[in-house]
Amino acid sequence: MSTQPKTWGIVGGGVLGISLALRLARAGQKVTLIESADHLGGLADAWRLGDLTWDRHYHVTLLSDMWTRGLLRELDLEDQMEWVETKTGFFTDGKLYSLSNSLEFLKFPPLSLLGKLRLGGTIFYASKIGNGRRLEEISVESWLRRWSGKRAFEKLWLPLLRSKLGNSYTKTSALFIWATIARMYAARRSGLKKEMFGYVRGGYAPVMQRFTELLQREGVEILLNQSVRQVRAGAWRTSVVEMKDGNSRTFDNVVLTVPSPVISRLCPDLEIDEKKLFDGVEYQGIVCASVLMKKPLDRFYVTNITDSWVPFTGVIEMTALVDPKEVGGNHLVYLPKYIAPNDPMFERSDDEVREQFVSALERMYPNFRRDDVLAFQVSRVRQVFALPTINYSKRLPPMVTSIPGVFAVNSAHITDGTLNVNETIRLADEAFNTILLRRTKDDRSYEASTQGAAPSTLGAEANRVEVAQR
Ligand SMILES: Cc1cc2nc3c(=O)[nH]c(=O)nc-3n(C[C@H](O)[C@H](O)[C@H](O)COP(=O)(O)OP(=O)(O)OC[C@H]3O[C@@H](n4cnc5c(N)ncnc54)[C@H](O)[C@@H]3O)c2cc1C
Repeated sequence: MSTQPKTWGIVGGGVLGISLALRLARAGQKVTLIESADHLGGLADAWRLGDLTWDRHYHVTLLSDMWTRGLLRELDLEDQMEWVETKTGFFTDGKLYSLSNSLEFLKFPPLSLLGKLRLGGTIFYASKIGNGRRLEEISVESWLRRWSGKRAFEKLWLPLLRSKLGNSYTKTSALFIWATIARMYAARRSGLKKEMFGYVRGGYAPVMQRFTELLQREGVEILLNQSVRQVRAGAWRTSVVEMKDGNSRTFDNVVLTVPSPVISRLCPDLEIDEKKLFDGVEYQGIVCASVLMKKPLDRFYVTNITDSWVPFTGVIEMTALVDPKEVGGNHLVYLPKYIAPNDPMFERSDDEVREQFVSALERMYPNFRRDDVLAFQVSRVRQVFALPTINYSKRLPPMVTSIPGVFAVNSAHITDGTLNVNETIRLADEAFNTILLRRTKDDRSYEASTQGAAPSTLGAEANRVEVAQR
C-alpha cells in the first residue's frame, strides 16, 4: 500500500479552510490554502477603522464554545481572553429598555403578564428540547405563534425574525429559533446563569496572525490574492484549480469551503442534480457598519430592535464588552443589517449608509452627537449564512461530490446550530474525521471504506449515493 502524502488544495482561507488545512497537514498531507483576499480570516478577519485594527464583524466567544477555546489554547491565546458579564437592551416603541434579568423581563411594558409568561415558557420549552431536528418540519412562524400566542408573536418575535431573516422568515423552520435559544442557554449554563461573553485581547487579528504562523510551521503553503475561477477533473484522478489570473495548480484532492452557489459556479463538472442542490441553498447577507465614537451609546452589548423605521437590525456596542482602552480609549459600535443577497442596499455607498445610520442613532439616543463619530466603515457580504428552510437537511448538498477527489465542506453543512466560529471548527473536525481522513490513505482503501459505509452524521456519504443513483 502506498504511503505517499497526497496533495490537497483548500479553497477559502476562512476559519473552516484554515482549520481543515491544519488537520490535513498534521495528518502528513501536503496542503495548499488558496484565498482570494490578501489575508486569512474570511468573516472573522480584522480591518483598519481609522487608526484602529479590530474585527470587521463583531465577534464574541461563549464559555460553552469548547472548540473555539480549544483552538485558542492551541494558539497559546487562552490566557489572553477576557470574560465579561454583559447586559442586553431592547428598543421598542421608540424607547430603550434594559432586559438583562428576570425582574426586568417582568417589568417589560410591551407585553401583558400572560404574554410574558407565554414568551418565557416558549424560551424555556425550546431550551429543554435536546434534539431540534424534528422542528425542521414546521415553520418558525407557526411554531412561535402556537407557543407564544398572537400578541407576543406580532409584537416581539416577528420584528426580531424579520430583522435577521427579512421576508425569508416565512420559509424558515422552527429549528432556527431552537438553535438560537440553545446557544444562549448553553452560555448561561456554563456561565453561572449569567451572560458571560469573552474576547481575545486585540480581537481576531492576533488569532489569525498566530494561526497563520502555525500553518506555516506545519508546512502549509498559503496562496493569498488568488481567486479561484474553476475546479475541474484533471488526468489521473487529479483535480485542476484554475485561478482568475490564469495560473493553475493540480492536486490529488480539493476541498471547497466557499458558499454553496459559488461551489456550483466554480465546478462545471458537477452532475445536474447535484448542482441543483448547491444552487438551492438560500443565503442571507449583511451590510455591517463599524462606528468608532468618542463617547459610549449606552451600557448594552446587544440591543435588539423591533421598530421597523430603524434601518439596522440591532446595535452591538463592542466596548460594553471590550475595555475601551483596547480601542484607543474610544467606543466601538457595530450596526448590522441582515438582507437578501440581491437587496439594493448592497449598492449604497458608505456615505449613503452613514447618513441613514447616523440619523437613526440621533433619533434613538438623545445624547448621541454625529460629531462624536471618529470613523465609519461598511462591510458588505452577500452570502453569510444558509437559511434553515423547512426540511433543509433533506436537501443538503453532498460533501463528497461526483467529481473524484473534490469535496465541498462549508457552513451550509451546519444543520443543528447557528453560524459561529465554534460550530465552524466543530464542522471541520467532523468532516475531517468522517470523510477526509480516509482519503489521506491509499485510494483502494478509501474506495473499500466508502463502499457500504454507514451514512455519516453529516449525511454526506448518504447524499453522495443519492446523487449517483439519480
Ligand atoms: C456579522 C457577523 C457576526 C458574527 N459574530 C460571531 C460571534 O459573535 N461569534 C462567533 O463565534 N461567530 C460569529 N460569526 C460567525 C463567524 O464569523 C463564522 O462562523 C466563520 O467566520 C465562518 O468561516 P468560514 O470559513 O465558514 O467562511 P468565510 O469566513 O466566509 O470563509 C470563506 C473564505 O473563502 C474566500 N473565498 C471566497 N471565494 C473564493 C474564491 N473564488 N477563491 C478563493 N477564495 C475565496 C473568502 O474570501 C473567505 O475568506 C459572525 C459572523 C458575522 C458575519
